[in-house]
Formats: sequence, C-alpha cells, structure tokens
Amino acid sequence: MEPTVMDGKLLAKSIRIELKKRASALAVRTGKIPMLATIMAGNNPDSLMYIEMKAKNCAAVGIESKKIFLPEDANTQSVIEIIRSLNSDPLVTGILLQHPTPPQIDVQACFDAIAKEKDADGVTSASFGAMSFKREAFVSATALGIMKLLAHYRIETAGRHAVVLGRSPILGKPAAMLLLNADATVTVCHTKTKNLPEMVKQADILVAAVGRPRFVQAQWLKPGVVLVDAGYNEGAGDADLDNCIPLCSAYTPVPGGVGPMTRVTLIGQTIEAAEKLFNEN
Ligand code: NAP
Repeated sequence: MEPTVMDGKLLAKSIRIELKKRASALAVRTGKIPMLATIMAGNNPDSLMYIEMKAKNCAAVGIESKKIFLPEDANTQSVIEIIRSLNSDPLVTGILLQHPTPPQIDVQACFDAIAKEKDADGVTSASFGAMSFKREAFVSATALGIMKLLAHYRIETAGRHAVVLGRSPILGKPAAMLLLNADATVTVCHTKTKNLPEMVKQADILVAAVGRPRFVQAQWLKPGVVLVDAGYNEGAGDADLDNCIPLCSAYTPVPGGVGPMTRVTLIGQTIEAAEKLFNEN
C-alpha cells in the first residue's frame, strides 16, 4: 500500500483560513491587530529565510509582524533588553527569538526573559513545565505542529512506541513530552545513545530532529513506521527520505511537512495570546 503523505503545507493552508477569521473577528471586537515580533541575532541565511517566511505567513492571515536584527556579536544582555521592551509593548502579542543564536548567547536565559503571556513559540521554562504537567500553556510551535499533523492524519499514539531523535529544548524534548502526554511509550535518543539503529528499529512513530541531512537510514526502520522528518538542512531532511519512504505507512515530506506546521502554529499562538491580552485591556 502507498504510504500516506502527511501534507503539512495543505493542512497549514486550511488552518490559516480559520486563523484569518479569528484575527479579523478580534479586530472587529477590539479594534486591535495581533503582532508577532521576531528577533534575529547574526546573519544565518537559513534563519533569515525562515523569518521572512514567518512574516509572509503573518500577512496572509492579516496580522502584523516586525523584525529586529542584532549583530553577530550581540550578547545575552542586549537580547534580553530587546525582549523586555517587547514584553512591555502593548502592540506586540507574540515574541520569537529565532534560533540557533550565536554561541556566546545564553539562549535559555533569553527565552526565559519572554513574558509568558507572549511566549508564542512556547520556549520559556515556565511554558515547558506547564505543558509537561498538561496545564494550559503555549507549546513549542514545531512540536505542537507535529502533534497536529499526527492528529489530522489519525495516527494513533496511545500505546505505540515513539522514538524521538534529538533532545533540543525547542524540538526534541517538547515533542517527546507531548507524545508521552498523548500516551505513547517514548524513547529519546541523542549523541550519547548507544546502538541508535536498534533503538530506531523499535519505533512505531519516529521523529527525526537531529540536524544532520539524510541521517536516518532505511535499514534502521521497522516496516510500517510513521516517519516525521523535522529536519531541514541543505535542502534535505534528517532522514534519507527517498529510500525510507517505501518502508513507511505515513511520512512527512521535506519540504512541505513539518515546516509549514511550525509557522502556522506560531501564528495561531500569537493570535491566541492577543485574544487574551486584548480582552484584558
Ligand atoms: P539541535 O539543537 O542541534 O539539536 C540536535 C539534537 O540532535 C541534539 O539533541 C543532539 O544530541 C542530537 N544529535 C545530533 N547528532 C546526533 C547523532 N549523530 N546521533 C544522535 N543524536 C544526535 O537541533 P534542533 O534545533 O532541535 O533542530 C533539529 C532539526 O530540526 C534541524 O534539522 C533543524 O533544521 C530542524 N528544525 C526544523 C524546524 C521546522 O520548523 N521544520 C524547526 C526547528 C528545527 P545532543 O543533545 O547529545 O547534542
């Protein structure tokens, strides 16, 4: 049987239609428009492309966006100062610090400076903690985007073995936590994991988030696996997709799988934040 293509581009398009209606209803009710503020430190060309795509997607749903650029040698304090000014700016409803940041920046300290009411990318320790305990919280946009994709394509998670490759705070860890909260049995792998191919072989659901192009090999996969390839490097995903696809029951294409779901989830949480912030003021 042909594997199901979990088409993030198509799903994100339909979610954007709903978000546009929500943003416009909010504008009618309050006279205000949500705004996503993006901070980028350094000149990473991929990051630049991502923030342009995010701004374009904001415009498509009728919300505002603004970008703040900092030099490659920006330090933690300068990023935190910008974040604090955005926290107190009533026009801004969502704050995104584009990652990766230059190495001298303490990225979690910067994330934790984001006001939790504006944490549209779900990166603060407070948001992660609340999400882990199934409390109301903004959630890592990529991890939540993956869960939305799985739900849309009716991929069962309860009782299934999910293997997450990668444990970054913005992707691997929150994806693992959401899968655990969705009753999957979860294994998280990283650079110190031994016998990685054997771990991967156990996966009913595999989330590849390692940042290494074509890393996951077809011979590591259990036939029928659901493959979520979150990677995007040098135009390729984190799995050797061409060879992996014949073994999958479902997979995300690269591009057009996880990426569009990240952006639409980020924008959705920016609007959700605005709904709460505008109603309070
Ligand atoms: P990251 O911060 O670099 O984390 C990579 C993780 O992979 C780390 O936990 C690392 O382990 C693990 N890893 C690296 N090499 C490994 C190996 N050989 N064996 C086992 N584990 C290994 O990356 P990230 O920000 O999570 O991003 C991961 C991927 O997702 C990248 O391709 C990125 O472009 C993509 N991404 C996509 C989206 C989207 O919207 N589609 C959003 C964010 C990221 P250690 O912890 O031991 O170092």
